[in-house]
Amino acid sequence: MSKGKTAKGTSIKKIEMRRCVVCRQVRHKSELIRVVKNAAGEISLDEPEKIFGRGAYVCKSPECAATLIKRRNFDKVFKAKLPDEIYDRIKEKIFM
Ligand SMILES: [Zn+2]
Repeated sequence: MSKGKTAKGTSIKKIEMRRCVVCRQVRHKSELIRVVKNAAGEISLDEPEKIFGRGAYVCKSPECAATLIKRRNFDKVFKAKLPDEIYDRIKEKIFM
């Protein structure tokens, strides 16, 4: 879809790109924070990315984090009310 932005942008094969739920930009996983819902329906921050389940991502940027915390975008994505702790931890990561 997106036309290569860089001259060597053709090696996209195995790079895992994900979309931020706030700004909708597609970024590399390393630039995003992942929240995942596991088989038991528990939602948590998944740092080493070991939990198998449905994931959602937000940029590691103050803008996206602030909007996310304000709007609680993940609640909508997971159709559930996420524990405040998850938003608090995202806040800590980005702003502290
Ligand atoms: Zn974003």
